[in-house]
Amino acid sequence: MHATTMPEPGSMRGVKLPGGRRVAFVDVPIPTPGVGEVLVRMKASSICGSDIRAIYREHLGHGPEAYQDVIAGHEPAGQIVAAGPGCRRFGVGDRVILYHIAGCGVCPDCREGSMISCTSPQRAAYGWQRDGGHAEYVLAAETTCVPLPEPLTYVDGALIACGFGTAYEALRKANVSGRDRVLVTGVGPVGMAAGILAKAMGASTVIGTDVAPERLSFALAVGAIDEGLVANKGTHEHILQLTGGLGCEVAVDCSGNPAARELALRATRRFGRCVMVGEGSRLDIDVSQVLIHPQITIMGSWVTTIGHMEELTDLLVRWGIHPERIVSHRFALDEAGEAYRVADEGKSGKVCIVMD
Ligand SMILES: [Zn+2]
Ligand SMILES: [Zn+2]
Repeated sequence: MHATTMPEPGSMRGVKLPGGRRVAFVDVPIPTPGVGEVLVRMKASSICGSDIRAIYREHLGHGPEAYQDVIAGHEPAGQIVAAGPGCRRFGVGDRVILYHIAGCGVCPDCREGSMISCTSPQRAAYGWQRDGGHAEYVLAAETTCVPLPEPLTYVDGALIACGFGTAYEALRKANVSGRDRVLVTGVGPVGMAAGILAKAMGASTVIGTDVAPERLSFALAVGAIDEGLVANKGTHEHILQLTGGLGCEVAVDCSGNPAARELALRATRRFGRCVMVGEGSRLDIDVSQVLIHPQITIMGSWVTTIGHMEELTDLLVRWGIHPERIVSHRFALDEAGEAYRVADEGKSGKVCIVMD
């Protein structure tokens, strides 16, 4: 596995997010992979809610969410065109997803494959602290590559890199099976991923709630949910009606909204499991009434491990599921400004930048 098809030295186009809802194009040299690194020709690079929340609108992030003026895009998928010395598994021609954080590799979290949880100063996320996928090429650590098997597409791969991985981890923690009805509060891209995967894992019914009727219609149309409820005062009652007065065995909040979080907890069946995935804001509940007496298990879940991401790609092939069915808009790299504008509106399905 040696560098064989390294592109001619030259420059490539990339996208940075300077804040204030601006998108800036830069021309930078095409990088050369060093020891343990690969050069990936980008094929698809999708936009995530956290890009919008913590970078595009304004630079809000601290620590792992601090944006350091790099090429944006933390959901990259592409094909390896050059491999530096010392690569052990991946080489030229391989189709790959990039797990979006390069960890230190030797801390207990990295050894679990949970580079998202690595606290080393060396930890760097693509699109946040090291150059990401909104470019013609990305320089990647071989340790962050996940094989993208046929028949999954590059757009499928980009969606697995963050959103589908995140949804899968939450459902895996809740141990979702055919015994469960699943409530998803917030049916943006992560919520739709949760619905699709919950059904594949056996959930008998998936109920989705959202404040945006457009999002519910889209989620219903792509088969991510079985029932779509516009979130309002009567939603809890409506969920009880749909579940014989019991509530859902599993609830996953993908909204980050305090009211939706509380709904997720209140609509969880006694002895059920509730997973918090949507970022930001707070939760204020009557602990006895909402948590202790109904004996709810509440869990937080942040992204996934690289091992579980690889497991998920294999399962998606076996299940015959293409994550790209939740994509509503595709744009070329040159149209990144429009791509971010659409994603920022929060009314669409997933928005993806596609390179060819
Ligand atoms: Zn993301
Ligand atoms: Zn580490």
